[in-house]
Amino acid sequence: MRQYSDLEGDFTAWTAVPEPCSKIVVVSGLPCGHPVEVREWDSHDGAYTDYQFRCVGGGHRWWVDGSDS
Ligand SMILES: [Zn+2]
Repeated sequence: MRQYSDLEGDFTAWTAVPEPCSKIVVVSGLPCGHPVEVREWDSHDGAYTDYQFRCVGGGHRWWVDGSDS
C-alpha cells in the first residue's frame, strides 16, 4: 500500500516491457496479452522507488513496490 501521492515524487518516461500483460480478462478468462510499459517513480525525499506498469490497449494499471521501501 503506497502512502505517497503521485505528486510527491517524479516519474521517468514510459519504457516497454518484454512480457505481455498477464492480467486475466474477466469476459474471456484468458490472459490479456497486450504490450506493457513501465515507468519508475521516485519520491522527492528519496525514501521510495516504485514502479508503475500500464497495459497498452487493455487498460490495466498496477504498481510494484521497489526494493528500498
Ligand atoms: Zn492488460
